[in-house]
Amino acid sequence: MFTRFLILLLISIKLFIAAAINPDISAINEKPMHLSAPSITVTYIANEGFLIESENKKVLIDALFGRIEMDWCVTPPREILRKMENAEEPFDDIDLILTTHWHTDHFDPVSVANHLINNPEGTFISSEQTIDRLKQITENYDVISDQIVQLTPGILSSESVAVNGIKVKVYKMHHSKYMEEDEKTGKQKNRHADVENLGFIIDFNGFKVFHPGDENADPDTYKKLRLDKENIDVAFLNRSFLYGLESENIELITKYIKPGLVVAMHIYDDQIKHMETVLTNLPEGFPDTILFKIPLETKVFNK
Ligand SMILES: [Zn+2]
Repeated sequence: MFTRFLILLLISIKLFIAAAINPDISAINEKPMHLSAPSITVTYIANEGFLIESENKKVLIDALFGRIEMDWCVTPPREILRKMENAEEPFDDIDLILTTHWHTDHFDPVSVANHLINNPEGTFISSEQTIDRLKQITENYDVISDQIVQLTPGILSSESVAVNGIKVKVYKMHHSKYMEEDEKTGKQKNRHADVENLGFIIDFNGFKVFHPGDENADPDTYKKLRLDKENIDVAFLNRSFLYGLESENIELITKYIKPGLVVAMHIYDDQIKHMETVLTNLPEGFPDTILFKIPLETKVFNK
């Protein structure tokens, strides 16, 4: 599908350095503002949150959170959250706002409501559980109700929609397990068993992006869904896929998801060093893998 990916760092100094050492990148660097379509621009916000832009579409996914202080995940810087809520550039004219699930490191209902009020043309897609939380906190839900699409497929099945000119395939996938002792029975139970976690394949006019939220690299899930048939260009995968990079996960990614490129996400600051080690020792045939480290870091991916 991909002969290769050309990655442009938008910071000009980095482009200069890259051009000096990599003739392929320098060829693209000659015309950085006229990239051959299709391409997408990805801006890291925090945790699993990204702004993804194609030539004329903008999608914000799992990015509107961080009002509550959290020291256990990377959160959007205050000024960025303010701009997102106010729908200020570069968060103006967002076509789609997606949330994989309601956990506070992915979603804050106040932030989503504020953004939708300030971006009346934008559409929000998420599950019933997430939208219920939006209803509970929003006094004037009527103002934004027309902007909301609730999609909650059955587990490991999907529904497709086209919204604001973007095709989206929505899957319901298992959230990663969090085992703890049940106070009543004393037995271990999964705290996240009932969390509605959505995975999205977003189709930017032929450039396909996959984001499965907090799905936990469950082999049975991918053997059933066979996402390798979806021609995914970029897969955003959380650390449970990559951190240990066990052989089972390698097969899962290379055989059953088969993306052109992987973006690692949900990486804490103190895990970056380890992830870098993993990424410099990827097995042959594994797709190129990108690790964003700083909020607002931006990269362009060409097909
Ligand atoms: Zn979660």
